[in-house]
Amino acid sequence: MSLPVIAPGATLGVLGGGQLGAMFAVAARRMGYDVAVWDPDAEAPAHQFAGYSLITPFSDVAARKDFAQRVRAVTYEWENVPGELCEQLEREMPVRPSSRVLRVIQDRIEQKTFLRAHGLAVPGFYGISRPEELGRQTLLGYPLICKTATAGYDGKGQWTIGRVEDQAAVQQDLTKAFRPGSRWILEEYLSFERELSILVARGADGTTRTYPVVENIHHDGILRQTTVPADVPAAVAEQVATMAREAVQALDGVGVFCIELFLMGDGRLLVNEVAPRPHNSGHYSLDACTVSQFEQQVRTLCGLPLGEVRLLSPAVMLNLIGDEVSQVTTTPGMQQLLSEPGAALHLYGKRAIRPKRKMGHITFLASTCAEALATARAFRSHQVLPNP
Ligand code: ADP
Ligand code: MG
Repeated sequence: MSLPVIAPGATLGVLGGGQLGAMFAVAARRMGYDVAVWDPDAEAPAHQFAGYSLITPFSDVAARKDFAQRVRAVTYEWENVPGELCEQLEREMPVRPSSRVLRVIQDRIEQKTFLRAHGLAVPGFYGISRPEELGRQTLLGYPLICKTATAGYDGKGQWTIGRVEDQAAVQQDLTKAFRPGSRWILEEYLSFERELSILVARGADGTTRTYPVVENIHHDGILRQTTVPADVPAAVAEQVATMAREAVQALDGVGVFCIELFLMGDGRLLVNEVAPRPHNSGHYSLDACTVSQFEQQVRTLCGLPLGEVRLLSPAVMLNLIGDEVSQVTTTPGMQQLLSEPGAALHLYGKRAIRPKRKMGHITFLASTCAEALATARAFRSHQVLPNP
């Protein structure tokens, strides 16, 4: 049975106008679609690529009507958009991934409970709704990690608690942040061997395409570097792909998903989280794959056949965070490495440079990962300031 296709010429809506929304908009326009971007921040990068921009809070009733009238289908660039807005839009048009999927993923406690209930291994965890419960916790031992159940990203809203003595200070932070309805997830802090992730695109007819497994390095909860393909045995890569497909199928998700996992020293794989959208660790696909994660997002949204997933070259992607974005064009050593064969530069056009803010990325393609990693290391060695 063929599914209804949204043909080029239509306007696609995206909620959220950061770099992920911008890259979606570029992919959509390249495929002949127009794009309406809704982000309350007038300086959000995706507005530059929008045929129509809405710059008002997501709660604006008139804007909701306006948006719904202009677009044929809606996606979002990250999971912290209002689920209730997606539900409302869904009554009139496809929203992909659906609001039901979004609701499960938006809440870290619900997400991990869902994954565990579907047989996927996750770190030990439980949810709390009052700061005092942190002080009484004995189930997980130490170290542990406490995360806000909702609205966290790039390591924001997270506290690592190494020893019982550190707990009081974190409890104070939670007390200060407490609002009615606040919840946090406590997780065992894992000394993993590697962090891995993988993209899965899934169409409305259930067809899936799985990208290669990549290895990620985070500092302070922020992604710094992605290497593709990950240097793991074939059996591990296979298992990652199987778990990722299972997670997306269990959600009955339509769209692009990224599954983050921890590989433990004893070979166990635990799912850290699922993102219902293209992911920073999938940016390599823009330069190193036949069909990027953003093109797949457009295809899944519009009911087009999914694209082939072929890795054309090993690659290393480095995020440019905070002031690194100005260094890249002004530091001689870095400038020189931009001329390396296979170096692709992406700058997001964000005006305000802030520490820990993702400002751009650079991807080094090379015939082997070792070569790409060597170039990435050389690039880093020219950095003027230490990593934020
Ligand atoms: P987000 O990406 O939404 O900020 P994550 O849960 O992915 O939140 O956490 C960010 C990073 O923090 C992870 O990529 C990982 O490096 C680290 N981290 C998260 N949870 C754990 C854990 N249970 N044990 C060890 N490290 C963790
Ligand atoms: Mg994450």
